[in-house]
Amino acid sequence: MAIVRTLSQIVKMIPGSQLVGNDLSINGVSTDSRGDLNGKLFIPIIGERFDAHEFLPQAIENGASAILCSKKYTIAPTNTSVILVDDTLEALQALAKSYLKEWNGKIVGITGSNGKTSTKDILTSILSAKYKVHKTQGNFNNHIGLPLTVLSMDEDTEVAVLEMGMSDFGEIEFLSKLAEPDAAIITNIGESHMQELGSRAGIAKAKLEIASGLSKEGLLVINGDEPLLLDGTKDKQPSYTIETFGFNEQNDFYPTFIEMNESGSEFDINKTNNVRFKLSVLGKHNISNTLAAIAVARKFSLTWEEILLGMQNLEMTKMRMELLKTKNGLTIINDAYNASVTSMKAALLFAAELTGYKRKFVIFGDMLELGDQEIAFHEEIGEEVVRLQFNYLYTYGSLSKFAAVSAFEQMDSSNVKSFDDKNNLIDILKQEVKPGDLVLVKASRGMKLEEVVNALLETN
Ligand code: ATP
Ligand code: MG
Repeated sequence: MAIVRTLSQIVKMIPGSQLVGNDLSINGVSTDSRGDLNGKLFIPIIGERFDAHEFLPQAIENGASAILCSKKYTIAPTNTSVILVDDTLEALQALAKSYLKEWNGKIVGITGSNGKTSTKDILTSILSAKYKVHKTQGNFNNHIGLPLTVLSMDEDTEVAVLEMGMSDFGEIEFLSKLAEPDAAIITNIGESHMQELGSRAGIAKAKLEIASGLSKEGLLVINGDEPLLLDGTKDKQPSYTIETFGFNEQNDFYPTFIEMNESGSEFDINKTNNVRFKLSVLGKHNISNTLAAIAVARKFSLTWEEILLGMQNLEMTKMRMELLKTKNGLTIINDAYNASVTSMKAALLFAAELTGYKRKFVIFGDMLELGDQEIAFHEEIGEEVVRLQFNYLYTYGSLSKFAAVSAFEQMDSSNVKSFDDKNNLIDILKQEVKPGDLVLVKASRGMKLEEVVNALLETN
């Protein structure tokens, strides 16, 4: 059960609010007027395109027990109780903040350019071996999603694992100060949102804002293979502890042995010498994500046995690096959920290290929102495809074309093609692939390359 409070309690939790109508108890909040709202407090958010106050009648029709409403609107008399507030978004955030203050569990915030959701999933599985854990669903990681995540949590939850996303300075600071985490993780620094943040150093600075709300005795866990994160913390003398993770031996948590396979990996770490960790998700980058999760698990007093147990029960959010085998013997790595330079390189490295395939195909669609160096970033991926000796490169979109251009002369050029039409790509690819081949499919979310994966699955 999500937040359970009476409306009079809720009014005390939202500064400046006022109850009109009967006091009653709600057992959750929702910002979506279309669902079943029985027992819920409906919160209309004013967005760029819609003002959800328009949907108040619909929310009432769908059973909302009570509604929040901005004081600037006069609403028609209704039997439904109304809480009047200055601003509905601020009210949602204030409610979440005060719910967290009344609750006495532990909070983890996770940010980074790549791997937030993966790390959140891994950490949640591990912590679940000891605690009742609530995690962000899907990608509810912004100034609206995070408060909704908090308010959907049962009160007897012991740990909340919250993903914190951003596209500009100040956003992570806001989320961190709202949640006041006991532990915070920065998974890595990539190139996304370069447009807003100017440089990788800017990105590091924006991610480090996660420390701004960290509790005094808290733990900041950063990727120590990233010099910009080390630089960003070295002059600080915070009250919280900082620990690093990564592949480098200077880190507090690093692997001492790694074996990668088709279903995941096995590894040892420096902190203990008689434990072999088994990870059932693909790619070396997930070892990195797991190291960060282990650092937090240790802070929260999990034993090594509990950590191993938690790792056995991994539940990952869909569409991140799935390895699919078709009935005709084709292997597909579906990583079509999203792409950035860092995650694209991680996926290429993973596919390159897999052995036993006849030929390896890279189906690469545009990486979006990379700012004014976007062409160079796509060219870099083309060079990486050459360096890692893939046999085929098919690109989709006007930016990934630059990867094809940079790879063209260094590969068998008849195996390098760029497409503007997805159906065309699918047709040619279907003709070309054979049993025993490996096909990696990856692009930004907006390119919808899962259509390629689905087409291959249907016909193979
Ligand atoms: P989003 O910003 O879309 O919420 P996210 O930070 O939650 O992304 P994930 O969804 O976990 O990240 O992973 C996105 C992509 O990044 C996947 O393709 C995954 O394979 C890759 N990835 C995950 N972890 C890492 C990592 N530590 N380093 C590089 N790439 C990673
Ligand atoms: Mg995510």
